[in-house]
Amino acid sequence: MLKIKNELPQDFFDYKVEELHQKLGGPTLFHLEGGSGAPVFISVLLHGNEHSGFLAMQKVLSNYHHLKKKLERPLLFFIANTEAAALNKRMVKGDVDFNRIWDSSHPLSSDVLTYVIDQKPLCCIDIHNNTGNNPFYSCVNVLDDNALHLARFFSETMVYFTEPHEVLSLAFSKHMPSITIEAGKSREIEGINTLVKKIESLFKHNIFSGELNRSKLTLLHTVGRMSFDPQVTLDFSFQKGESQFSFLNRVDEFNFQVLESGTILAKANSLDGFIVERSDNKDSLHHFFEVSNGELKVAHSFIPAMITKNIENIHSDCFGYIMEPYKI
Ligand SMILES: [Zn+2]
Repeated sequence: MLKIKNELPQDFFDYKVEELHQKLGGPTLFHLEGGSGAPVFISVLLHGNEHSGFLAMQKVLSNYHHLKKKLERPLLFFIANTEAAALNKRMVKGDVDFNRIWDSSHPLSSDVLTYVIDQKPLCCIDIHNNTGNNPFYSCVNVLDDNALHLARFFSETMVYFTEPHEVLSLAFSKHMPSITIEAGKSREIEGINTLVKKIESLFKHNIFSGELNRSKLTLLHTVGRMSFDPQVTLDFSFQKGESQFSFLNRVDEFNFQVLESGTILAKANSLDGFIVERSDNKDSLHHFFEVSNGELKVAHSFIPAMITKNIENIHSDCFGYIMEPYKI
């Protein structure tokens, strides 16, 4: 299923995201030579509608190519769900979510894990986008110094999560410093430029040196995941009426903001069909939310992340995450 190639195709720099499946024929790992040292492993397009990682890598590789420069380190560059990318969808309907297969013996994840770990990479960077209004941020799944160094190198905004546990970065975190990057909305130029600058710098410098003052790091910890039963009706017009939950139109502007208790989020008559999953299985729905006077309100202060208004994403993935500040 996985193709491994040692050279970029001639016309690679002209490839459009939606052409990748036709050009590459499926998930492809480019193992490109570079200077000495351990390779860098970068993964893009695990979700087919999240283009910034691919566009940034195309730019980085094109910059080196046009300057006739060799990469300072070898590169393992994984272009994942080309088929979903051709459709500009998170995943192909009826197929697996490519970022939920890394804890199992799925043939693709097994092939990539086996090959990449064998090359003993310096680090793993998996690049995503989201559909809501969110800042550029990095995520770690373990709290060791090197993972935190890498996360902070990309962004001062850092999230620590262990669920969902089936993600690529968590699988690789057992073997190397490993992070997930959320580079804002897909194709947003600001996120792409930040990625290009950081990735080029990562090739040139030793980012793992220097002291890590853990007490000065601000980390947010994901404690819950918000979703809805499939039959639940939703809208974002904040009107009493047809939908069971009618959220504020600007609800995704709450991402990464502290929501105090009492904050109104939606018109709703009950919490039925709203799901808040928490890894410790505590009743977090009634801990974080309440309904009174026909409105859904925050019952206990938290910081939301990745709240999206994209109904398709809400039903195929989730509505968003609940975070709390985390002291390390
Ligand atoms: Zn994603």
